[in-house]
Amino acid sequence: MRCSKYDVVIIGAGIIGLSTAMKLLERFPKIKLAVLEKNAKEGTQQSGHNSGVIHSGIYYRPGSFKANFCVSGRDTMTQFCDENEIPIWTCGKLIVANDDAGIDRLNTLEERGTANKVEGLRMVDVDEMAEIEPHVVARKALYAPDTGIVNYSNVTAIYVDRVKVAGGDIIFNTELNGSKVGTGATILETTTGEYETANVINCAGLHSDIVAETMGVDTGLRIIPFRGEYYKLRKESNFLVKGLIYPVPDPAFPFLGVHLTQTMKGWVEAGPNAVLATKREGYRKRDFSISDFLGTITFPGFWKMGVREWKTGLWEINRSLRRSVFLDSLQQLVPELTDKDLDGTGSGVRAQAVDRAGNLVDDFRIDESPGAIHVLNAPSPGATSSLVIGDYIADLAIKNFSLGSAQPTATI
Ligand SMILES: Cc1cc2nc3c(=O)[nH]c(=O)nc-3n(C[C@H](O)[C@H](O)[C@H](O)COP(=O)(O)OP(=O)(O)OC[C@H]3O[C@@H](n4cnc5c(N)ncnc54)[C@H](O)[C@@H]3O)c2cc1C
Repeated sequence: MRCSKYDVVIIGAGIIGLSTAMKLLERFPKIKLAVLEKNAKEGTQQSGHNSGVIHSGIYYRPGSFKANFCVSGRDTMTQFCDENEIPIWTCGKLIVANDDAGIDRLNTLEERGTANKVEGLRMVDVDEMAEIEPHVVARKALYAPDTGIVNYSNVTAIYVDRVKVAGGDIIFNTELNGSKVGTGATILETTTGEYETANVINCAGLHSDIVAETMGVDTGLRIIPFRGEYYKLRKESNFLVKGLIYPVPDPAFPFLGVHLTQTMKGWVEAGPNAVLATKREGYRKRDFSISDFLGTITFPGFWKMGVREWKTGLWEINRSLRRSVFLDSLQQLVPELTDKDLDGTGSGVRAQAVDRAGNLVDDFRIDESPGAIHVLNAPSPGATSSLVIGDYIADLAIKNFSLGSAQPTATI
């Protein structure tokens, strides 16, 4: 069955697909735009399973997409939340170091954060640390007082409203599983019929490599899913964490290390770790998909990554299986924590792009092909930066797409 014709179809109603839809409709109010989403609701994958931090831009190499997106992303996200009465809490973030190597890395982070103009960023000594986070024990810490938290599901819900009000269609329960790319038009084959569109934007997160392949694009990447598992602290133990407490991250790894975070959902999260998942949407240890697993192990980059990172991989599996090892990581931050403080679990799955040489792609990766834009790696701080990324993709669309007679309105 052939369904409607569109100027632009976006695959994926996560926070990035929706912000892109919103930004495009702001600039081109007359275009016919649809977002196709395989699930029954928006934001059910990474966008609904993250730590909820509005990152301030400390970690990222100046000049990288991560740095550029995050620094302005933080301000625009904060303003957007204020304007839309979405509660946020600027609870501050402490990154702690316990040994000389950690302190060296903390110094590098301070330099990066300063280059990225993170407001209020400063090193704190043991006395000030005790005022900020009385239960942390560390030798030195970097403090970012302006870092905040939000429930990104609230943000995504407003993006949905804005897209609908602007005339965009959000079509749920519709999974893209094939396409015929022609000159000037692409037929998208989905579980609810065919959609014809002049332009496609792939924001499919954990499936973005597959969607690109469906459209005949060789990205040289494979999405390897990494499950992030966390514990919740018992309500009575929440007093142990005032804001956000992070270890100094390992610079060889794109994840931030197990941390303790207040959330807007009313509990403190302890985690997430980063364990290889055997299913792209493998939120539970037992989740397994033969096609996803084969997709991972038949990719040459996976084995090259494995040769390089096998020790870290085994260490993460050990920590995932043994609660005492997980607790030990948390005690590096707050030694008072005991097993009795942990109560309940949760998880998210990160879409981590790996290249053929086995490198974990650290930065955002957004590729262009005729009539299409593919968001192939959108790691943290993707949620923080979603408004800025939406603007960036809208700029690419103006450059690459022929949007017919639709004239852009003023850009932001
Ligand atoms: C554990 C974890 C913690 C994080 N913490 C933070 C944080 O504190 N702060 C921060 O800024 N960022 C954080 N991030 C990163 C942030 O969540 C992501 O960058 C962001 O959610 C990516 O959004 P997305 O729209 O690209 O992907 P997703 O949210 O994964 O959306 C992709 C959508 O595409 C749909 N889809 C896939 N394939 C198809 C198909 N074939 N047809 C139709 N639809 C399809 C999926 O169902 C999904 O809804 C975290 C991520 C994780 C996993």
